[in-house]
Amino acid sequence: MNEPARLFISEIFSAIQGEGRYVGSRQIFLRLSGCDLRCSYCDEPDSLEKKPGHARIETRPGSREFDEMESPLPVTVVASRIVEFESQLAHRFLSVTGGEPLIQPAGLSELLPVCRASGMKIALETSGTRPDALRLVAEAGDIISMDIKLDSVDSAGVDPVSQCEFLSAAIEIGAEVYCKAVISASLDADELREAAKWIADLDPSLTLYLQPVSEAGGEVPPSAGALLGLQAQVMEILSDTRVLPQVHKLMGQK
Ligand code: SF4
Repeated sequence: MNEPARLFISEIFSAIQGEGRYVGSRQIFLRLSGCDLRCSYCDEPDSLEKKPGHARIETRPGSREFDEMESPLPVTVVASRIVEFESQLAHRFLSVTGGEPLIQPAGLSELLPVCRASGMKIALETSGTRPDALRLVAEAGDIISMDIKLDSVDSAGVDPVSQCEFLSAAIEIGAEVYCKAVISASLDADELREAAKWIADLDPSLTLYLQPVSEAGGEVPPSAGALLGLQAQVMEILSDTRVLPQVHKLMGQK
């Protein structure tokens, strides 16, 4: 008999979404461990390595009391904890985040159908570089929050071609997709405009969120005046370009 798939997990908890289109809504966060990038502004340094360790599982939604379990966890265990959590409070979405969730497509392709079957809606937060993994995991109607990586901001060296392929795959699947670019004072505006152009070539009606980098860790966000100018430039390419800081940090929520 095959072993059940396992997932490397950092934490499961209930919280207010602080970024993107569904900011303010209550979501279950499934934070997976491991990421293949190293963005300079990363605010999840403890979730970057995909390796055995402790996973923190909140005992009740919002209690901020946690059980510790040994990760990787069998998908069946993860599913039952999430479904039980949802039975205690109906959340808007299961937000699958990381790290980079799409480095564990096998486990997710077993977990997410169970969650959908129990009535949950799936929101995937991804760096947007793995179209093949996305096709294994996502379905029409899922929500995909796709990062647009800008080398002048993150120094992560992401190839825009892989991002373009990813966005194309997300649209083909029939997911509800929006894009999010972290920007800082080091941003090269030409790089941002180029990204807006390839997004608009795929779908000019897509929303792009410009997310000023958080000041923690020595990162410097653009000034308010610079943001106005950047937004105006990008709106000429993508009309629905919005500026949205990380609301959960403003309210002191992790
Ligand atoms: S993709 Fe996300 S998790 Fe990975 S290094 Fe960048 S910010 Fe951190």
